[in-house]
Amino acid sequence: MDKLIEGFERFRKVTYPTKQRLFKKLATAQAPHTLVITCADSRVVPEYFTSSDPGQLFVVRNVGNIVPPYAQFVGGVSAAIEYAVVVLGVKDIVVCGHSDCGAMKATLKPGSTESMPAVTAWLRHAEVARHVFEQNYELDDEKARLHALTEENVISQLDHLRTHPSVAARLAAGKISMHGWVYDIETADIRVFDAEARRFVTLQIGDDDKVLATPEMAAVAASNSSAGGAADASRAGYLRAVAYAGSDL
Ligand SMILES: [Zn+2]
Repeated sequence: MDKLIEGFERFRKVTYPTKQRLFKKLATAQAPHTLVITCADSRVVPEYFTSSDPGQLFVVRNVGNIVPPYAQFVGGVSAAIEYAVVVLGVKDIVVCGHSDCGAMKATLKPGSTESMPAVTAWLRHAEVARHVFEQNYELDDEKARLHALTEENVISQLDHLRTHPSVAARLAAGKISMHGWVYDIETADIRVFDAEARRFVTLQIGDDDKVLATPEMAAVAASNSSAGGAADASRAGYLRAVAYAGSDL
């Protein structure tokens, strides 16, 4: 507890005075651009690794970055999604898994959470990912297995996200974009789900340090700009949530 109080003191004395304008602006309204659904793991802090200020990200955290399918389970995650989409009007939703995820390790070993009935029940929402993994991968290496399941889980939760009426309606109208990420704690890499290629690719920072892109996206952007064309709009969607980080507040 002492650490918490000391940290709060430092925030009040050092950080707060430098951001007073921001907090005054945030005192009566919020307008986050992105909803981030990520794991409760203490090492995964989306505001930190996207250099975001308070007010920029609407973050929902739970064990395993799960999005329960709407018809099966309406609870806190569903309510937060609905609020972020309908009231706050977020333009992007990121489902962000991560390396060394305890929830994914448990999902790989059914029965390992027997002493935790709530965790067991919650992780049933990751069952679909485990089935996809078990029937489509033949991997012996434990790290590779965990990595593959973590990616499949992000894809599964994106699929669940589509079952939420508020999201489905805006997706159909082209008013919202969904993104699947896997954050690597050790290397600070982010792998992004490329829905067209149906695989994850590593985000790379472009030459101008402003555009973040996968190698493929960078190539598309380069060929388009040399031809004088516009950037590939469908792929640009993937970049938005990252490109906004740490912006104008
Ligand atoms: Zn986790």
